[in-house]
Amino acid sequence: MDNKTKKVKPYGLFSMTRHMVGIGAGKKPLHLILFIVLIIIMGLSNTAYTFVKQIFFDAVEGLVGGREQIGIVVVLGTVTSLFPVFIFLVSNLSAIVLQIFFKTAEGYMGKELNEKAARIDPLVYEDNRFLDQINKAYAGLQSVGNVVVSMLMILLNQSVYFISMAVYLFNVKPMLLFMFCVSFLPSVVGTVVRKRLYANLENQAAPYRRRYEYFEKCICSREYVKETRLWRSEGFFQRMFGSNLRECTRLSWQTAKHVRFIELGLRTLTLTGYVGTIIMLFYYLSKGEIGVGAFAAVFTSLDTLFSRMNELFDIQIGSIGNAFGPAQNFFAFLHLPERQGLYEGTLKREVTELKDVSFTYPGSDRPALEDINLTVHKGETLAIVGVNGSGKSTLTRLLTGLYLPTSGEMLIDGRNVGEIAPKALYRDVSAVFQRYQSYKMTVAENVRISDMEKGDPAVRDAMEKANFPMDSEKLTEGLETMLGKDFGGIDLSGGQWQRLAIARGLYRAHDMIILDEPTAAIDPLEEADIYRKFAEISADKTAFIVTHRLGSAQIADRIIVMDAGRIVDMGTHEELMQREGKYRKMYHAQAKWYV
Ligand code: ADP
Ligand code: MG
Repeated sequence: MDNKTKKVKPYGLFSMTRHMVGIGAGKKPLHLILFIVLIIIMGLSNTAYTFVKQIFFDAVEGLVGGREQIGIVVVLGTVTSLFPVFIFLVSNLSAIVLQIFFKTAEGYMGKELNEKAARIDPLVYEDNRFLDQINKAYAGLQSVGNVVVSMLMILLNQSVYFISMAVYLFNVKPMLLFMFCVSFLPSVVGTVVRKRLYANLENQAAPYRRRYEYFEKCICSREYVKETRLWRSEGFFQRMFGSNLRECTRLSWQTAKHVRFIELGLRTLTLTGYVGTIIMLFYYLSKGEIGVGAFAAVFTSLDTLFSRMNELFDIQIGSIGNAFGPAQNFFAFLHLPERQGLYEGTLKREVTELKDVSFTYPGSDRPALEDINLTVHKGETLAIVGVNGSGKSTLTRLLTGLYLPTSGEMLIDGRNVGEIAPKALYRDVSAVFQRYQSYKMTVAENVRISDMEKGDPAVRDAMEKANFPMDSEKLTEGLETMLGKDFGGIDLSGGQWQRLAIARGLYRAHDMIILDEPTAAIDPLEEADIYRKFAEISADKTAFIVTHRLGSAQIADRIIVMDAGRIVDMGTHEELMQREGKYRKMYHAQAKWYV
């Protein structure tokens, strides 16, 4: 798997719309159809209203001239005055349907996120850039809704309105359409210019903002306050804070001035278009080129036309502009790499092989493991030793199958580990990690977490093997004692938490088990005792123990010596002691600890 080169596919406006509408359509198809029909009707009915007004005003003129009967005028007048009510009803109904449809789609997209989070390759969680994305994805969900609603409104409502209105105006007088388009232009230009200027401002101002925020923290945050007080450096930070804040404000003010100035110019142009259209209307009317009806209809519809235009630019395009970035985070998250393995059969784990395996953490330029070759047979106990940072924990994460090799291959019973479904891969594996979890639950739940079915005897047995002191007075309610202060439980010492973690690892039914330095907080003599019991119960299982105390490594059939990401030696304790290698040096350096 290659996170570094796998570029996240950016999502466009149309595919976002398709995705969300698709999900909603599967759940609420009738709502979707109703919504689409309603907003198209809404778009058309504004134009129809203008047209009806034209007919009505023509009829009124006819009535005055004695060419029209009063009855027809009354009917037309009624229809005309009911139109706004009709438009109001349609728009409210569509808002209700929209609410239902989008809340449902949003709910299912939230489920989509949770399911994705559970499928993501664990390695992804090691990558800071991706961790950021995971947090942002949840925040981005709502933005997807905003983008898609605006898109649907533009595509099905505004465009229907503007196109039908354009056809109408063109029929009345092509010049009117031309005038309107001219007053449309400033809004387009304004949107583009504003976006440019603000993006530019953000680039310039961001460094100053980061700095003044930092200096503010130096003055009043908990981690800095002790030193700041001691050095009496408040004044200094205050000055730095002030100068950066001033610069940031100056830049914002400058941009705001620019934007306002340009907008003033553009609005003047729009106003010119508006006034020009009206003058033109009077001109055509006086020349008899348009009727009274058309004049009155266009004249009374101009404010709707211009307010619709503002709505389009300020509300819909504006909200797409704001929500598009966050919405993309949602889709970027859905595209995070997943494990592809499909094999779900039982693994016998007779042989585990690593062939020329190298592994590099995402975002790191140095491999944590290099050229690892290792074959392990079922039932073997291996110890992995080496200094801090030599790659021991990383090797165990590969052995469990949590992480896949960056290059080379790992085979379980001859099957490439990448082809095995995670479910099958982890089925019979147990592990106690170096950074284990301390669950804020009862003692029993802490042990039982991987399998809630087994009874108390199994829990007690595992705890006994991990040397957990069951008779401790602290455990007022025995196995049911609540742990962790957060929920009113008791706290354990580091060593007791560690024994509990070991018990959890031993409790889980397994063919393979890994203990990654689980005994750092436990003294060497007791550690030896725990490992002795461990060796007994692991006789027929594959076991790896990672330890920096070489005394404990001796229970292993084989000892793997690691250094700087490589296996530098391998053998039994006796074999390794006979060589002039790292192991013997380490052993002698530690010998003084063991009496
Ligand atoms: P050990 O368990 O022997 O102390 P590790 O396997 O933890 O060694 O680490 C091996 C190397 O990988 C070290 O250089 C360490 O800095 C690096 N490393 C460990 N975890 C990460 C990580 N999440 N991201 C990047 N580098 C890591
Ligand atoms: Mg480690």
